[in-house]
Amino acid sequence: MCPVALITGSSRGIGRGIALCLAQAGYDILVNYAGNQTAAEETAAAVVDFGQKAEICQADITSQSDGKRLVDFTLSSFGRLDMLVNNAGIAPPVRADILEADADSYDQVMATNLKGPYFLTQYAANKMIDLQQAGTVGTPRIVIITSISAYTSSTARGEYCVSKAGLSMMTRLFADRLAEHGIPVNEIQPGIIQTDMTGPVKEKYDTLIEDGLTPIRRWGQPEDIGKAVAAIGLGYFDFTTGAAIPVDGGFHLHRL
Ligand code: NAP
Repeated sequence: MCPVALITGSSRGIGRGIALCLAQAGYDILVNYAGNQTAAEETAAAVVDFGQKAEICQADITSQSDGKRLVDFTLSSFGRLDMLVNNAGIAPPVRADILEADADSYDQVMATNLKGPYFLTQYAANKMIDLQQAGTVGTPRIVIITSISAYTSSTARGEYCVSKAGLSMMTRLFADRLAEHGIPVNEIQPGIIQTDMTGPVKEKYDTLIEDGLTPIRRWGQPEDIGKAVAAIGLGYFDFTTGAAIPVDGGFHLHRL
């Protein structure tokens, strides 16, 4: 039987890139979306084109009961769960200066980017431990898509940066707790990736990239992140846990 990956927010963007790279690596895929069913169906069709199975499940990551339903649906559909990729996330609905931004935006971003993944991971990890003890899966793995915003200040979207910094600590906490169960937990920090999320700021980033913001002067693509997740999925990082892996064109380098 093929290993199974559950990827939150895999209807579009980076999540879809991860789904396709994991399908090429031999994974069956649970495609999750919030509202965009058509996009989810497109991802699933592309997975099937790679010869793998795909199932689709609508679930709002901000809801703990939806998160549980998502994991349970994966298990009832495939009978196993080998990889959880916490990818779904949002930018603040409005970019607002940290001296003015309101609490509603903070709550929404934190619920989606941090609280949702936190309890989804807790629930999935317990299921993974059971599956492993039953001999159903070998090495389950957990990946968390954070951002360069986990350590980079953007004062017009403070709540996003705080959510990603929290997610970074969440990676280390689960890595520490799950090491005794042989479950590696790692974080991938994407740089500037061409998706719907960055659509509204495309021109700004076009210029910044052209002017050398990143040593590798191009936009990142969803498959750049997908390839890194596939390397983890293939077991090439099984002695690594609690690590932040940059996939950012060298953005993280300090340069003189
Ligand atoms: P995107 O193109 O806006 O896609 C977002 C995905 O998340 C969609 O599949 C969306 O589903 C899903 N989603 C949103 N809210 C959800 C919810 N409440 N429950 C379930 N699914 C939900 O975003 P992206 O650029 O691919 O970003 C993916 C992740 O990478 C995010 O965590 C983001 O913070 C991170 N990231 C992005 C960049 C970048 O430059 N793009 C850089 C660093 C990190 P629907 O299609 O149904 O709406």
